[in-house]
Amino acid sequence: MRASKLYAPTLREVPAEAELISHQYMLRAGLMRRSSSGMYTYLPLGLRVLQKIETIIREEMNAADAQELLLPIVQPAELWHETGRWADYGDEMFRLKDRHGREFCLGPTHEEIITALVRLDVSSYRQLPLRLYQIQNKYRDEIRPRFGVIRAREFIMKDCYSFDKDDQQANLSYQAMYNAYDRIFKRCGLDAKPVEADSGAIGGDSTHEFMVLGEAGEALIVYCPQCDYAANVERAECKEVEKVEEELLQLEEIATPEVKTIEQLSEFLKVEESKIIKTIIYLADQKPVAVLIRGDHQANEVKIKKYLNCTQLELADPVTIEEVTKAPVGFAGPIGLDIPIYVDYAVASMVNGVAGANKVDTHIANVNIDRDYQAAAIVDLRQAEAGDQCLRCGGNLETARGTEVGQVFKLGTKYSEPLKATFLDENGKEKPFIMGCYGIGVSRTMAAIIEQHHDQDGICWPLSVAPYQVIIVPVNYKDEEQRKVAEQLYQSLRDLGFEVVLDDRLERPGVKFKDADLIGFPLRITVGPRQLQEGKVEVTIRSTKEQIPVSLSEVEDWVSKFIRG
Ligand code: ATP
Ligand code: MG
Repeated sequence: MRASKLYAPTLREVPAEAELISHQYMLRAGLMRRSSSGMYTYLPLGLRVLQKIETIIREEMNAADAQELLLPIVQPAELWHETGRWADYGDEMFRLKDRHGREFCLGPTHEEIITALVRLDVSSYRQLPLRLYQIQNKYRDEIRPRFGVIRAREFIMKDCYSFDKDDQQANLSYQAMYNAYDRIFKRCGLDAKPVEADSGAIGGDSTHEFMVLGEAGEALIVYCPQCDYAANVERAECKEVEKVEEELLQLEEIATPEVKTIEQLSEFLKVEESKIIKTIIYLADQKPVAVLIRGDHQANEVKIKKYLNCTQLELADPVTIEEVTKAPVGFAGPIGLDIPIYVDYAVASMVNGVAGANKVDTHIANVNIDRDYQAAAIVDLRQAEAGDQCLRCGGNLETARGTEVGQVFKLGTKYSEPLKATFLDENGKEKPFIMGCYGIGVSRTMAAIIEQHHDQDGICWPLSVAPYQVIIVPVNYKDEEQRKVAEQLYQSLRDLGFEVVLDDRLERPGVKFKDADLIGFPLRITVGPRQLQEGKVEVTIRSTKEQIPVSLSEVEDWVSKFIRG
């Protein structure tokens, strides 16, 4: 490709709309342009990167016995009614009607439609296991589209679905996908950590997210530096805590006027936040419940929701709180409450804690479980945090932020049962398929690669996904000798099968170097007068900025070695 013809409009300025470095570089390097909120056009260079990622994904999916197909983007509402997700999906779903008034959606995901396909065509255990995947645009009307293609409303996903005859076979599918994901991200040059994640209503150890660690990540994870345990905080379990042996003291009311927060209370009473009980009133499917969390801990609403097995969980409004506690907001406590009280492990082990008194401007000291209030249940309801003990090895957990690039999920019969997708087993018995689903955000992966591979001058693409491998930059294209050498090299490297751009523009060298760095070609071959006098060119490795003079007769070999290893 000649740079003079290449449609890669680079920008010198950082676009105001872009907060994250990957978003900035994708715009500045001319990889993509925004068309409307959360919707993007991929320009030729951006598309080449996407296609390389897709090729890696296809190779690994095919190697894991998954077969590619292509499902429709527009899906009929009826199927979604069968699983109940037409209502559950809410505003995130793009909905539309055809000319006859029939309802459809733009697929946010494809469990319904693929299960409906397989229920028609697969009827015997002999046809299993079956693994099917596609690479396609997905549509989600995200409440906050941001960070460019990291959270978009139209994005590219690889989604794979497995159909198995029993749990054992389903576990093999899960493991095959897990291993394929590991290889895919490695081949893309990404350091992606598999973490245990919350599986929502399905339960069990049935899902892992692949996280790219970095400050920009929206998810919080905990991991153990001593063993390989890692989990999304939504999911990470906290240990039961042993009670310390300590004398139970008498309850004591304390006036606490103007004290609103845990921090202020700790300050005012000169007690540690870990001796304070937070009483949080929630509405679980409209019914009020109290949750007790230690002052220095955070409630984990994913755990609470799961334990209560409710579909909706929200903080109670002030009117409900006043009704339940008979006091204004800010003084709720467990004593005398006549709603169910769910107590986190860390609160249950507390002796002589401080809590709200259910009375205006008042707290109460020396509160003890069993003696002063009864728990409906003692459970793990808080968020894991740095410093907690690892459940596996006892090490000290650390926290990090991460961006989810992929997820593998054991679905069980969640979709096959409501959709009545069944097969006949070895004994002629009708059974629902055991399913799994496995997604990779292809466009998000591209951004994540940039997050991990860049410097102050631009992108440093790993060779495996670079839009082109080499750029040849004659310092002055008008100079006859430089032009001749550059053109010859361009020809011979392309003949060898390499992906090469020749910068034949009549720009100043500084402009050409800046563009080459910004776009991030792994190798730059500079053809300049000084080196040419010695029969050499200069090769620059983008990621290290290393500059190596190479004689003209050896350039092809040098490049081959570098690229093909
Ligand atoms: P998130 O928690 O980030 O919203 P999700 O759990 O909704 O992700 P899945 O439904 O598991 O995502 O989709 C599979 C993959 O698709 C994700 O791992 C992610 O890489 C990608 N993805 C999901 N939502 C978006 C989006 N709005 N924009 C770009 N990629 C996305
Ligand atoms: Mg989502």
